[in-house]
Amino acid sequence: MTTIPEGPPADEPQGAATSSTSAASAASSEEAVLQAAASVLEQAAPEAEGSMEALDSGRRLLLVHAHPDDETIGNGVTMARYVGEGAHVTLVTCTLGEEGEVLVPELVHLAADQDDQLGQHRIGELATAMEALGVRDHRFLGGPGRYRDSGMMGLPTNDRPDCFWQADLDEAAGFLVEVIREVRPQVLLTYDDDGGYGHPDHIQAHRVAMRGVELAADPDFGPGEPWQVAKIYWNAIPETVLRDGIRAIREAGDETFFEGMDPDTDEMPSFVLPDDLVTTRIDGMDLVEAKMAAMRAHATQITVDGPFFALSNNLGNRVWGVEYYRLVRGELGTERDAEGREVDLFAGIQ
Ligand SMILES: [Zn+2]
Repeated sequence: MTTIPEGPPADEPQGAATSSTSAASAASSEEAVLQAAASVLEQAAPEAEGSMEALDSGRRLLLVHAHPDDETIGNGVTMARYVGEGAHVTLVTCTLGEEGEVLVPELVHLAADQDDQLGQHRIGELATAMEALGVRDHRFLGGPGRYRDSGMMGLPTNDRPDCFWQADLDEAAGFLVEVIREVRPQVLLTYDDDGGYGHPDHIQAHRVAMRGVELAADPDFGPGEPWQVAKIYWNAIPETVLRDGIRAIREAGDETFFEGMDPDTDEMPSFVLPDDLVTTRIDGMDLVEAKMAAMRAHATQITVDGPFFALSNNLGNRVWGVEYYRLVRGELGTERDAEGREVDLFAGIQ
């Protein structure tokens, strides 16, 4: 992940990627999205077609996310890259994102304070996005609708008994254990302990992921064969990458992104990590189109006509096409890029 999508996050009404709404985004039909993705995936993922069963693939990647769209914004090119390389990619999404703001004018009635039908709608958006990235195995923790979106931190929705923030940790982790023991991923991706930026569902997704890994390895816990996840990564944004991103976007004439912030002098927001803590860089510049198609699929949440999407190809690919991680369990691979970062999540795994 890079500068733009995470700061400010897409869940936030003022989010960068969500700042403007237009008829154009509303018109981006499912069909158009899939057409845009098709050519990318035809080149990228021919061998993935046959492998539906997780254990048929030697390399297995599990992602644990809070809401539909987080996976695409944070890990879109990573998912597409590993699907393309024949790995089995499994996405577990913990809520339906019922509390999200609706950016498509004609769908505003779906929102939680009106018809409260947004969750159902976002199931479809997620399915389309996963088709765009080539991911066939995507599930909801405990089944769709088991846990409700908690809303932003401090809102009354945090107290609803059915919301994810109120979930019993071991019960929720138990659902993830079932997935881990079935799929047997060597690598797991999730958020850091602040959930990236403090959204209660992101924090809870982090806790469930970490607890799920622990319980899955415990022979005394529940049914199924214990499984050790070899490597765990947290999504990360290196400080230098955010500073460079703000600088480049200012040069391109946009002043709204991190408005008022001087990339050369100001302190960076708390979700940014010092460069030396960011261990791993996944380059998916050739998969940006698939990621963009997946973002368009999340039409109620992300508008792709804002200033960040209008960046020149060169800058846009750097911003959207490179995703960063911090390894928190397992050994770093020996192959490194010029900055000393690991370049493959599966490095060192047999
Ligand atoms: Zn989210």
